[in-house]
Amino acid sequence: MLNVSEKAQIRQVLEDAQKRLARTGQNALSYSMNHERNIGRDSIDESMEEELFSTEMRLHDREKFLLGKITKQLARLDAGGIDVCDECGEGISFRRLLARPVTTLCIDCKEQSEKEEAAIAQVGRGIEASDADSGAEPERAPVAEE
Ligand SMILES: [Zn+2]
Repeated sequence: MLNVSEKAQIRQVLEDAQKRLARTGQNALSYSMNHERNIGRDSIDESMEEELFSTEMRLHDREKFLLGKITKQLARLDAGGIDVCDECGEGISFRRLLARPVTTLCIDCKEQSEKEEAAIAQVGRGIEASDADSGAEPERAPVAEE
């Protein structure tokens, strides 16, 4: 179990990351608005425009994905289960949470799931990429174990 001060530190890290991501999101938005105004005004190649735009969208998707994880972690923190592994119910160390505040797995399960991911990536190359991201951490209620 985490003590009060450890919980406060994790909360701080999560909330900082949340604010940072929200800010980045706003920057990306104002960038694309300026960007639209400039279209047709100069000689930037159209394929380059498209490439910039899709990079931006990918970044935006990643931000949304991370923000979702952070929200989930804050809920786990409130429920008192942030340091409980989603997979095996064992404790996750404070040091690990501080270093990787969005993790929901203990180090053993994480290593195991990375091995499985690598194996799946070998077999499933070419299958829809969107499933690969969420595969590591299945949607599941936090394990509340006393
Ligand atoms: Zn575990």
